[in-house]
Amino acid sequence: MVEEAGADVIHLDVMDGSFVPNISIGIPVVASLRNKSSLPFDCHLMIVNPEKYVEEFIKAGANWVSIHHESSEDPSQVLSAIRQAGAKAGIVLKPQTPVEVLEDYLDDFDFVLLMSVNPGFGGQKFMPEVLDRIRKLVSIRQRANKTFLIEVDGGINLENAKELIQAGADILVAGHSIFKSTNPPEAIKEFKSIKYLVS
Ligand code: ZN
Repeated sequence: MVEEAGADVIHLDVMDGSFVPNISIGIPVVASLRNKSSLPFDCHLMIVNPEKYVEEFIKAGANWVSIHHESSEDPSQVLSAIRQAGAKAGIVLKPQTPVEVLEDYLDDFDFVLLMSVNPGFGGQKFMPEVLDRIRKLVSIRQRANKTFLIEVDGGINLENAKELIQAGADILVAGHSIFKSTNPPEAIKEFKSIKYLVS
């Protein structure tokens, strides 16, 4: 359904009950979904010790894998393992982590995922502070002449999507605003039409 409605990517939130106080899906679920869609799978790993599992997620079918800056002593090394295993490597920042921490390793990721809620549960209220964080990251990217994409995750709906795109977001993650709507395919189409209005 989401593929037919025009979604570009399937974002899968992986939670381990330790890095975040909630448990969601793991490697077998990703593997079982793989033959249901040809869209890229974007696995957002909210787990401790991500270095132990990134390759298994890629084997299970993840095309993009993101790890939290806060979950690793050496994010660069884990990002490099993701790339070596053939996936796009993403780094995630919780709302309280300054975007400037990324300046130490700007070459090491293909996308940044900015959280616009505290990670752990779906259906939370959007934190508008992320708009300034996007703008800051856009200017860091420009100054350093990099091409990484900026993805935003948490509390995104049809009302705030436009300002996120205007601030410089390249990819929007939407969960509740699609799956809890009365007409999910229509909600996806509306998100996509905003994108085209802005660009
Ligand atoms: Zn996510």
